Amino acid sequence: MTASYRIGPRPESIDAICVPAHPAQDTLSAEARSAQLEEARQMLTQRGAVLVAHYYTDPMMQELADLSGGFVGDSLEMARFGANTDATTVVVAGVRFMGETAKILSPEKMILMPTLEAECSLDLGCPPDEFAALRAQHPERTVVVYANTSAAVKAQADWVVTSSIAVEVISHLQARGESILWAPDQHLGRYVAQKTGADMLLWNGACVVHEEFKAQGIERMKAVYPEAAVLVHPESPEAVLALADRVGSTTQLLKATQELPHEQFIVATDRGIFYKMQQASPHKTFIEAPTAGNGATCRSCAHCPWMAMNKLDALMQSLQGDEQAVQVEESLRLKALQPLQRMLEFTADKR
Ligand code: SF4
Repeated sequence: MTASYRIGPRPESIDAICVPAHPAQDTLSAEARSAQLEEARQMLTQRGAVLVAHYYTDPMMQELADLSGGFVGDSLEMARFGANTDATTVVVAGVRFMGETAKILSPEKMILMPTLEAECSLDLGCPPDEFAALRAQHPERTVVVYANTSAAVKAQADWVVTSSIAVEVISHLQARGESILWAPDQHLGRYVAQKTGADMLLWNGACVVHEEFKAQGIERMKAVYPEAAVLVHPESPEAVLALADRVGSTTQLLKATQELPHEQFIVATDRGIFYKMQQASPHKTFIEAPTAGNGATCRSCAHCPWMAMNKLDALMQSLQGDEQAVQVEESLRLKALQPLQRMLEFTADKR
């Protein structure tokens, strides 16, 4: 497939992103851990709330979602679950755009987050006004934005996509002869352009977690574990994708651990996913892909610092009031709803 893509100029806002340090790790005894999980479960029940957690949140948060009748998934599945649940209060453990997406789809529900300060480098690196300026220069292009954007950027889009359906949506648009303006992740955009051959102009953004995986480090790891399959998320650099046995979204990588015959996996995505991988295949071995190599800074060390803010004590705090409720202004919500609904209708047709 001949790819036709180019990457736009690097926005100044990207270099200004302040990546927080990881919060201190909890060191709880087994008894204290169980007691905290039970307390949080009871608080969810008393509030009539359901917990929707991303695969990248800490294992305790995912465990709480499992044992309280909530849900753990990728951003597309979280959006679907949040929209379809009967619960009137949904707690979204993830990052801000996920809480916003839930609110856009379900304005009648109370959407709480353990912290409203959990950001995403892709969202922060694509300010709505700078994106509007680029869009104005390319009115002929269909605007497709990744779910990892603010409501104000989604409101400017024709389509929203997640990594699990990006290739299908762009193939569909390319078959209609449309050229694409894509934001914000350049690596995912390049991967999609290469898979589909679509004409894509890419916003120059990146995920601080996936951009840090380095081919050199993975090659060294492969030498140590020659039998292991390499699993890579498409937000990673091209040289890392070239080493993959399977490239895919979090859900697709989770499936790969069950479908592939390998017993060992080198996993190049946030290590939060190990909780579900281990649960699905307890007899298999999962190895973190290294973030070492030329140019590595280890700002993330394979764990999103914003996802790491989703602590159980913060969740319990959020359940005590409405201060951590997500708000999206109504006219903005209605604009952002259209491209989101287009994505959900497209995926419903595919199922
Ligand atoms: S892992 Fe990357 S894409 Fe996901 S929330 Fe963190 S910074 Fe954003």
